[in-house]
Amino acid sequence: MDYNIVCIPGDGIGPEVVTEAKKVLEKVADRYGHRFSFTDILMGGASIDVHGIPLTDEAIRTAKAADAVLMGSIGGDTSTSPWYKLPPEKRPEAGLLKIRKSLNLFANLRPAVLYNELAAACPLKEEISEAGFDMMIMRELTGGLYFGERKTFEEDGQLKAIDTLTYSESEIRRIAIKGFDIAMKRRKKVTSVDKANVLDSSRLWRKVVEEVAKDYPEVTLEHMLVDNCAMQLVRDPKQFDVILTENMFGDILSDEASMVTGSIGMLASASLNDTKFGLYEPSGGSAPAIAGQGIANPIATILSAAMLLRFSLDLDKEADAIEAAVKQVLKDGYRTIDIMPQDEEGKRQVTQVGTAQMGDLICERI
Ligand code: NAD
Repeated sequence: MDYNIVCIPGDGIGPEVVTEAKKVLEKVADRYGHRFSFTDILMGGASIDVHGIPLTDEAIRTAKAADAVLMGSIGGDTSTSPWYKLPPEKRPEAGLLKIRKSLNLFANLRPAVLYNELAAACPLKEEISEAGFDMMIMRELTGGLYFGERKTFEEDGQLKAIDTLTYSESEIRRIAIKGFDIAMKRRKKVTSVDKANVLDSSRLWRKVVEEVAKDYPEVTLEHMLVDNCAMQLVRDPKQFDVILTENMFGDILSDEASMVTGSIGMLASASLNDTKFGLYEPSGGSAPAIAGQGIANPIATILSAAMLLRFSLDLDKEADAIEAAVKQVLKDGYRTIDIMPQDEEGKRQVTQVGTAQMGDLICERI
């Protein structure tokens, strides 16, 4: 089949890691008889340098016409780059907010996987890390406390501040459907996380999630309070398959889950709308300090490309092939600098490689 993928190389290490992900997609196309046509658009600092703004309407139109978008990362060194002397709405990050809004990306997906070979980087006790884990955090991205009405005012001689947490049934239903759909492609378990012992918005969340669950009889649904979930993530992370939660809880829990994997260069992510369309990107930033040196880890972007195949193009076996190739390359002892073992004995057992070599090694295993 033919697919049209828009790429946003962006800034810093972005262009280097996107090049490797494209290389891997080309290999998948060859091996499985597909054709991917790639169109690059500018965003972030790269767009400011050419157009004076971080994202043009023309670039958005191009992205909308694609089957999916693959992004590197945007932004520069926030203390030295001239991009950060511009007003906030013209800075690189404004491009990211604009594209998320224009494409109606309301569902954020962040996998947290502990690879056996990288277990030493996991900060959890050995008896927990050696069991491994593989979970997907599905976070609502456009509602809740971060988008509710807020104000700061004076009352009885002191300042008071109010933030509001609002969710409608339809906002909850659409993210719950996404969560159950994703669970059907995985181990068929959804843990819906809320604070239903206190919050009305959580009680509504629970009610709607239970309604949606009726359409997915093969999926096991459990509810968990957010405080308990924060504990369970470090006590027994392997119990989780899909964690489905609202915006702020997801913000906090997804960072906690990434931390327990121990390696930022390995973390993929996706933001989806209510069609198959999505934007796929590594969870890390543009790492300006190591840009241009050929040492960045491309695996997070390559795994983001695998998510693109799975969730936007329904090419599950092709996505499996990329994920298996990444596992194999780690098993064969290849590491970029960020995932090198810290001790001398560990270093002797592996080979350090650069960005392009890591891309080549993964391609060879597809
Ligand atoms: P960062 O993620 O870029 O870097 C944090 C640390 O992780 C650095 O030590 C960096 O070298 C390392 N790192 C990150 N990705 C790596 C990779 N693939 N391989 C090897 N090492 C890697 O975070 P930061 O320094 O806080 O931010 C730098 C810039 O990135 C800022 O302009 C920020 O706004 C931007 N940013 C962009 C996005 C995005 O595009 N979605 C996300 C986060 C930060």
